[in-house]
Amino acid sequence: MAKQVYLNGELVPQAEAKVSVFDHGLLYGDGVFEGLRAYRGKVFRLTQHIDRLYDSAKGIWLEIPLTREAMADAVDATVAANGLSDCYIRLIVTRGAGSLGLDPRKCSNPQVIIIADSIALYPAEFYEKGLEIITSSVIRNHPAALSPRIKSLNYLNNILAKIEGIQAGCIEALMLNHKGEVAECTGDNLFLVKKGGLSTPSLEAGILDGITRDFVLEIAAEQGVPAVERPLTKHDVYIADECFLTGTAAEIIPVVKVDSRVIGDGKPGPITRRLEKRFREETGK
Ligand code: PMP
Repeated sequence: MAKQVYLNGELVPQAEAKVSVFDHGLLYGDGVFEGLRAYRGKVFRLTQHIDRLYDSAKGIWLEIPLTREAMADAVDATVAANGLSDCYIRLIVTRGAGSLGLDPRKCSNPQVIIIADSIALYPAEFYEKGLEIITSSVIRNHPAALSPRIKSLNYLNNILAKIEGIQAGCIEALMLNHKGEVAECTGDNLFLVKKGGLSTPSLEAGILDGITRDFVLEIAAEQGVPAVERPLTKHDVYIADECFLTGTAAEIIPVVKVDSRVIGDGKPGPITRRLEKRFREETGK
């Protein structure tokens, strides 16, 4: 069966799912998106993802031509139409086709695209042994320029940091904010464990309000692991007992080396493993 892609209200075969070369999503990164996952046929935290999408859209003055309920139904329908139970879902809303100028008023029809497929952000071995990352010299977008809370189609900031990581032999990179504080990685939020407690940068650090991050904070509370959201420095990272990243695509992945410094004993730590186990119980993975 050919893969079905949702395009503006219809499920069409993948080969027919096309958008204009004049789409401002392509020309200018003018649009917003979400990355979701379904486990056992059910989309994880669907309402939270839909709410974040509409908040991102509001942040860029983009009116989505669907109600939140209709959008959630469209996501479910796309997963079902592809007969997938465990999958990654990419939901995109672009400003639509316009002219060769920035003016968004020339774009009359936002394009709504939903793709259900698979993703392997990091090779499986890193979930076992942990990732090595570097701190990128590319700082996270200044919140006054483009808020990192807006999940926009403009990911160049993160891509540049990722390239720097790759050139240093790492597949992920840590980004600091304009104040030199730890923000997040290129597609994940960051957590540290020190003396049995969790810490993670707060939203004020200029990060995406990660849905996996939120879930980890919930399960930490449920398991009696204290957690704080506070400004973190590179030094906090270097002296942590454990470090891990969270994201829809990444799920929970341990980090064992940062800027060549060994974190803890260089192996994924017990609290990371406990949270991963609880995450797997929730998702059935
Ligand atoms: N930060 C960035 C920059 C991201 O792209 C992502 C992936 N969406 C995350 C954090 C993690 O967010 P979530 O857990 O909602 O996927």
